[in-house]
Amino acid sequence: MIRFEEVTKRYPDGTTAVDGLSFEVSEGELVTLVGPSGCGKTTTMMMVNRLIEPTSGRILVNGEDIADVDPVRLRRRIGYVIQQVGLFPHRTVLDNTATVPALIGWKRPKARERAAELLDLVGLDPKTYGPRYPHQLSGGQRQRVGVARALAADPPVLLMDEPFGAVDPVVREQLQDEFLRMQAAVRKTVLLVTHDIEEAVRLGDRIAVYGQGRIEQYDTPGAVLGTPASPYVASFVGADRGLKRLSVTAIEPGDLEQPPVVRLDEEPERAAARLRADGARWAVVLDAGGDLHGWVALDELSGGGGSITSRGHRMKAWVPVGAPLKQAFGVMLQHDAGWVAVVDGSRFLGVLTPAKLHEALRRSVDADAQGVAREQVDFDSVSDV
Ligand code: ADP
Ligand code: MG
Repeated sequence: MIRFEEVTKRYPDGTTAVDGLSFEVSEGELVTLVGPSGCGKTTTMMMVNRLIEPTSGRILVNGEDIADVDPVRLRRRIGYVIQQVGLFPHRTVLDNTATVPALIGWKRPKARERAAELLDLVGLDPKTYGPRYPHQLSGGQRQRVGVARALAADPPVLLMDEPFGAVDPVVREQLQDEFLRMQAAVRKTVLLVTHDIEEAVRLGDRIAVYGQGRIEQYDTPGAVLGTPASPYVASFVGADRGLKRLSVTAIEPGDLEQPPVVRLDEEPERAAARLRADGARWAVVLDAGGDLHGWVALDELSGGGGSITSRGHRMKAWVPVGAPLKQAFGVMLQHDAGWVAVVDGSRFLGVLTPAKLHEALRRSVDADAQGVAREQVDFDSVSDV
């Protein structure tokens, strides 16, 4: 979809910002460009919509050499989001969002309808926020409007230059999550610039790690963290790259342990006897349909009458299969638990323990060493009852 062929950019003062760059971004792929300040990320990005012209080399978008495409026409097909959003201060949020459709000649009602849809898509209720002016929004909200505006004309390509750089870390994570959810729905071809390796790893299907004007490694986040191509990349991704891997490695059914299970409608004494025979001290409780209900300790099952329902505990937290290991680890810490239940929908699949978590991490390192693609990570957040 986007292809760089030996692209070099030398500024008039002699600075070589980008040097013989060749890489390709597939349709629907989200590629993050990451590297220290001044390494040529913004220059790379601005050559795609011809705000900057390369000194040599070619850039193809959808098979077409963009040097032959009228820049105005080109930019209609390419959404552009920058850090200082640049919203028009005297226009409402709705009109700001509708800017591009209006520019390309959509009728006003249609443009506004589309703008409302997009505000909704980026998590801003159009009724509440549409009539406001930019100064009446928080930094994070302004950034969302920037994203909505860039998507308004439904361009196949989206360029984002440090889009979440100007907001605080908590809002930033929220925006990243929302952006991933949105991207899963709209599947644009995205080039996203960041200087933050965490963000690059979290968002990118692939990441390009920049050295000075060149790409040092272009691969999946798992591979970059697991097998850095050079000492430079290793030091850039940091000594805690093992920890970072937690956020790009998905929980798989094979990672799970199968603890003893009792059914809600089972007779407590019988369940207790079964656990004793197995040498188990607790069990996961499932309802009659096999859905996760909670857990119960052996002591709580022994003696007295009543049902399991009245003795056990409702499960407070669980994680969906496919979620990143980091999420499971976070839930264990948050609930001070030695295990966390993993579900597929509401169906109980097994539990993840610290030992299994470690095994899963090893598995993913080995897989990447053999060149297996990054697992599909599902970022849906944990559910709390
Ligand atoms: P990044 O976005 O990775 O921080 P840039 O692409 O903005 O890096 O810049 C790459 C290099 O090119 C830097 O050394 C920067 O100082 C230089 N540069 C950027 N724009 C210009 C310009 N208009 N004229 C001269 N040098 C520039
Ligand atoms: Mg920059």
